[in-house]
Amino acid sequence: MLSALAERRDLNRESPLADRLAPDATPGGYRVRAIWQTLQGEGAFAGYPAVFVRFAGCNLWSGDEAHRRRDHARLGAACALFCDTDFRKAGSVRIGPDALAAHVRQVADAGRLDDSPGPRLAVLTGGEPLLQADALLVTTLRAEGFAVAVETNGTVALADAFGPDPAHWPDWVACSPKLPESHLNIEAMDELKLVVPAYTPDAYPTLAARVRPQRLGGREVFYRWLQPEDGPRLAEARRVAVALAEAHPSWRVSVQTHKVLGVD
Ligand code: SF4
Repeated sequence: MLSALAERRDLNRESPLADRLAPDATPGGYRVRAIWQTLQGEGAFAGYPAVFVRFAGCNLWSGDEAHRRRDHARLGAACALFCDTDFRKAGSVRIGPDALAAHVRQVADAGRLDDSPGPRLAVLTGGEPLLQADALLVTTLRAEGFAVAVETNGTVALADAFGPDPAHWPDWVACSPKLPESHLNIEAMDELKLVVPAYTPDAYPTLAARVRPQRLGGREVFYRWLQPEDGPRLAEARRVAVALAEAHPSWRVSVQTHKVLGVD
């Protein structure tokens, strides 16, 4: 039983979607790099199973190692220097909303062992997913029974991506800004995550005020996270995150549980 479960996990690791689908499954559709089920590693839903949809492309770095310093200098985002996500077009496919939602359901169903309803969560990530995701995709995924979460850098307004009606916006919005506040257009979010030490609370007071409260036991809870930057300066980043959380009690330290657990 346990070895069978481990085998299922191995089958559902992040890999280029082009290994499974034709490169142009839907001409004109979204350009998607990967669809896979894993555990949400961060934030309020850490530990929940979710199907991730990684859109290709970002507006803050080309994704090419050779362009890190160039894009950092040109666009001003420190994350271009340390981003460890592969969102390049290589290995991606073009896929429309119906085929994408069907594939998300297929991936979710392949990972479960019983018919319990359980949470059905689709996480749209990237790159920058709001360059492509739209209201039709949200509607289509909901029709398949999924709540829709999005992980964004905050540069694109939700109304620009999903239209003016908030009913068509994703169910959960997590924002991790990589540019100064003056460059951000996102109207509201359910979680705000700052990757320290490059990004700190004193630089994001306006964005912090846009975090929507959640209700927990009759109290309002705000999800504002300090995420230590992974990589060569992780030890320093952890120390800074702890010090900042102590100095700013409305923020708390986030742990990347998927890295602790060794899942991707
Ligand atoms: S915005 Fe996000 S995906 Fe894009 S380069 Fe920065 S960290 Fe990477």
